[in-house]
Amino acid sequence: MAAIEFVNVTQAFEKNVIIKDLNLKIEDGKFTVLVGPSGCGKTTLLRMIAGLDRQTAGSVLIGGEDVTDIAPGQRGVAMVFQNYALYPTMTVRENIEFGLKNNKVSKEERNRLVESISETVGLSPYLNRKPSALSGGQRQRVALARAMVKKPSVFLMDEPLSNLDAKLRAQMRIELIELHKKLGTTFVYVTHDQVEAMSMADTIVLMNQGRIQQEAAPEDIYRQPNNLFAAQFIGVPPMNVGDLGMDGVKFGFRPEGAVLTAERTDSHFGVRGRIVTREMLGSETIYQVKTKQHAFMIKCTEDQFTVDQEVFLGVDASKIFFFGQDEHRIAQ
Ligand code: ATP
Repeated sequence: MAAIEFVNVTQAFEKNVIIKDLNLKIEDGKFTVLVGPSGCGKTTLLRMIAGLDRQTAGSVLIGGEDVTDIAPGQRGVAMVFQNYALYPTMTVRENIEFGLKNNKVSKEERNRLVESISETVGLSPYLNRKPSALSGGQRQRVALARAMVKKPSVFLMDEPLSNLDAKLRAQMRIELIELHKKLGTTFVYVTHDQVEAMSMADTIVLMNQGRIQQEAAPEDIYRQPNNLFAAQFIGVPPMNVGDLGMDGVKFGFRPEGAVLTAERTDSHFGVRGRIVTREMLGSETIYQVKTKQHAFMIKCTEDQFTVDQEVFLGVDASKIFFFGQDEHRIAQ
């Protein structure tokens, strides 16, 4: 069992309180993604699980055991860093083996493990190369393989894909999902990229300023965001939000939740607007539409309007969200 639990955890660096009284359960065997803007405390949580930092107050449990006084190497966790932290003078094989040598594993067993893991992550042809002779994606795989040989019960990953180009990132996302399925181990993955969170997570833990904003399956956060922050952080482009002009209540709707027409139609109450920008992305086009009081981003599957054209914007009532003065969602 490798569920992870934070119980009333506070983390402060000198007088700076980063995490305050946080409670969180990360399920055993699930792919959990901690996501939120830069500086919200994601890495701080990961480092406490790894044992790289000790919390100021509260407990961190792994598999039901309080690990506060257990050294990082004894926690059964392996961490993959953003910069991979490979040893430049060692070959791929030596880099992967490194973790094992320290655990006094026999040469035969080391070879067997390195070879089977290299096979899993597609590194077999590169075992004798140095990291400098590898592509970014291959280096990323070495970092993963090095974590895997330790057979950890928890994988911790801190923005492991951020140094890769967009195409490779998309490919590695799929590989990580498959790796997780194959290993069945607890994955805790930190990113500020909501696309990574949406595409890989079983559970998203959405954070802002050291606090958990929402903890749910990706589709649940998307469909039922707890508050304005969750509504605008998850989804691209972000949810459109406007003022209702009464008691601080705001309304919101997703860019794909609106219909644009050239004429006013009977089926939708159409607000008059004008196309300000047009961004053709292939299968969809994103228009910025200016109405009398607002500017909205609208996603359409057809590229049918031009800049400066007058349009009518309709939103089905079932697709409108409402947020109260405290920014919590009050109704949909
Ligand atoms: P990013 O996406 O930019 O990596 P993050 O959400 O992972 O951000 P953290 O690295 O957890 O954020 O940092 C949260 C806050 O804690 C930041 O304001 C940071 O400056 C501060 N912080 C982190 N580690 C320390 C430290 N050792 N000493 C002082 N302040 C720290």
